Amino acid sequence: MSIATTPSTYLPFALPDIGEAEIAEVVDTLRSGWITTGPKARRFEREFKEFLGAADLHAIAVSSATAGLHLALEALKIGPGDEVIVPVHTFTATAEVVSYLGADPVFVDVDPATLTIDPDAVGAAITPRTRAILPVHYAGLACAMGPLVQIAAKHGLQIVEDAAHALPTTSCGGRLIGTLDTAATVFSFYATKTVATGEGGMIVTRSADIAERARLMRLHGINRDVFDRYSGKTDNGGWYYEVVAPGFKYNLPDLAAAIGLHQLARAQAMRQRRAAIAAAYDDAFSCLPVELPAMAPAGETHAWHLYVIRLCRGSRIQRDELIMALREAGIGTSVHYVPLHFHPYWRDRYSLRAGDFPASTDAYRRMISLPIYSKMEDADVERVIRSVRALLA
Ligand SMILES: *Cc1c(COP(=O)(O)O)cnc(C)c1O
Repeated sequence: MSIATTPSTYLPFALPDIGEAEIAEVVDTLRSGWITTGPKARRFEREFKEFLGAADLHAIAVSSATAGLHLALEALKIGPGDEVIVPVHTFTATAEVVSYLGADPVFVDVDPATLTIDPDAVGAAITPRTRAILPVHYAGLACAMGPLVQIAAKHGLQIVEDAAHALPTTSCGGRLIGTLDTAATVFSFYATKTVATGEGGMIVTRSADIAERARLMRLHGINRDVFDRYSGKTDNGGWYYEVVAPGFKYNLPDLAAAIGLHQLARAQAMRQRRAAIAAAYDDAFSCLPVELPAMAPAGETHAWHLYVIRLCRGSRIQRDELIMALREAGIGTSVHYVPLHFHPYWRDRYSLRAGDFPASTDAYRRMISLPIYSKMEDADVERVIRSVRALLA
C-alpha cells in the first residue's frame, strides 16, 4: 500500500521546540563560568514550584526522571523484600527503579479505555509486602487518582507518580499533577517530552523528609551541594564537607536548567498547540475504523504528550504495515509501549504471561503513536491526516 504524493521532507515523530530564548540562556550559562548545578538549577526549581502554584511544595532538580523516581523510592526506604505496584504498559524505567533498590515490581494491567493503571487490578495485587504504587499518567492523561489515593490510604501505601508525560496535566477537580496528595511526583525533561532540556527531571513533594533525603542522595550523599561549597555561602571558607550516605550522581547541570527555564515559561502555550493538533486528529479520524485516544474528563487538562490511536479489530491493514506505509510517506511514528511483559528480562524474571495483561496486550498489538508536538505546522498536521486517511479509509 502506498500514498500517491512523494514527500519532499521527512516529518519526524518528535522534535523539541527550542526557541531563541533557550539558546541565549545556554550561551549566557556558558559565558558565566558556571556550567554544572548552580544558580540556574536553583531558579528552575523555584520557578517549577511557582508553575505548579503550590507554595508548600519542594522541587528537586535531577538528571532524569529515572534518577528522580529512584531517589523518591529511596527516600521512602523501599528495599529488599518490598513490593511496588507498577502498570505493565509503560517504559522500562518505571519498573527498573524498583529493582535498583532490591525491591520487586508487581505488574498490573491497565484500564482498556484510558490505558492508565487499573485501580481494581491494583487492589487485587496488594500483599503484606506492598509498600507503594507507581502510577503513570500515560500519554498525558491523569490516572484515576481518586480511587488510587483511596486504595493507598486504606492499605497504608505510598504513591509516587511517574509524571514523565504529565506536564501540564490536571486531575481531581483541576489540580495540576504534582500538587495531589501523594508522596512524590516525578517529571521528565528528556528530549521528546513536553518540556525538554535534553536530559533532566524534577521531583516534587510536600514532605520535607523526602525532599531532604533526595537532595542529599542526588549528589553523593554530601551534606551540602557543590554550589554552597564553592560559592562561599558557608562559615568555614567553603572547603569542608561530609559524606553521610553512599549517594548518587543525579544533579541537573545549569546548562540543562537554562533550557528548562524558558521551556517552562512556554509549557501552557505548547500544550495548547498540542491540544489543537489532537482536536484536529480527533475530528479527521472520527469516521475511520480506529479507536481514538481517551479524552480527559470534563474540566480536566490532558498534556497530549502522545496521540495514540488503535486500529479496530479486523482492520484490513495491520499496525506494522501502517507504520511502514507512513514511513514511506515520510511520516515518523512510534509505539508506546512494547509492554513490559513482552521484554525478556521482566517476562522471565517474573514469569509474566500475555494472558495475564489482556488490556495492555490487546492495545499494544493495535496501537500507533502519531506525531504531536508544538513545532508541527498546520501543513504537517494536514499531511499526517491525509496520509492516515488514505491508508485507513
Ligand atoms: C521518559 C519516561 C521515563 C524516563 O524519563 P527519563 O527522564 O528519560 O529518565 C519514565 N517513565 C515514563 C513513562 C517515560 O515516558
